[in-house]
Amino acid sequence: MKTANTIKEVRETVKEWRKQGLSIGFVPTMGYLHEGHMSLIERAAKENDKVVVSVFVNPTQFGPNEDLDNYPRSLERDTEICEKSGANLVFFPEASEMYFEDKSTSVSVSGLTTLLCGAKRPGHFDGVCLVVSKFFNIVTPDRAYFGEKDAQQLAVIKRFVRDLNFDIEIVGCPIVRECDGLAKSSRNAYLSKEERKSALILSQSLNKAKEALSKGETSANKIKDIIINSLSTEPLAKMDYVEVVDSLSLSPVENINAPILVAIAVYIGKTRLIDNFTY
Ligand code: AMP
Repeated sequence: MKTANTIKEVRETVKEWRKQGLSIGFVPTMGYLHEGHMSLIERAAKENDKVVVSVFVNPTQFGPNEDLDNYPRSLERDTEICEKSGANLVFFPEASEMYFEDKSTSVSVSGLTTLLCGAKRPGHFDGVCLVVSKFFNIVTPDRAYFGEKDAQQLAVIKRFVRDLNFDIEIVGCPIVRECDGLAKSSRNAYLSKEERKSALILSQSLNKAKEALSKGETSANKIKDIIINSLSTEPLAKMDYVEVVDSLSLSPVENINAPILVAIAVYIGKTRLIDNFTY
């Protein structure tokens, strides 16, 4: 497996592979890799001849009061995990390699970003779309792999890929969870022992909602109430949002009669965690 810090090195490697007629899968990450990321890399390795992973804590997708400086980093461990999972090239750029100081171009997806994390983290998806579109132009993959854990991100990326005619297949991959149900996340590293226990309330609350849906509940408000009530039983949990939206348009629904996304964001102490399911 190769590692690269510059765009030039990535382009040269990709050019070589293209000359040999090889297909390329791409997995963008912010590092501090776990089994969720590994599932994406392994899938990419199955479906493509070569796999590129990027590890970049992208400053443009963090708000002024978010955790950019404290975001966990572990380049050595990430390199090992990438190799073990079947990556052929890991790209670790510095911010100065990715961004010009006078950068003037933005990539902004409207509509899909007005609710959920888009409403709570202004500018976040503009940062995501900018960096992902840059990576797409650098790596020029055939396929790119994203987790359903970040369901809104996946929808937004599919939309700009369609709107801007990127010739890249976007592959969504299922959420990987800890044995007790907590969705794997690099941010779980922030949780104290006590908070780690409290964090279970996210998947438990979603499970209660799933159960009500399977019994025939069709009112989105009732589903939201079930989740809000369940979250309120956990003293360390503070709800950021609980939404029931159409799974394609991400617009709010009242009566559930088409595929929905049930998505939540919850603070456990100072750590903001997200989880979701589709139904
Ligand atoms: P991140 O490093 O958090 O930006 O995530 C990089 C990619 O891994 C994104 O496409 C995430 O959706 C995906 N990912 C993160 N956690 C999980 C998980 N628990 N299961 C599946 N995919 C995940």
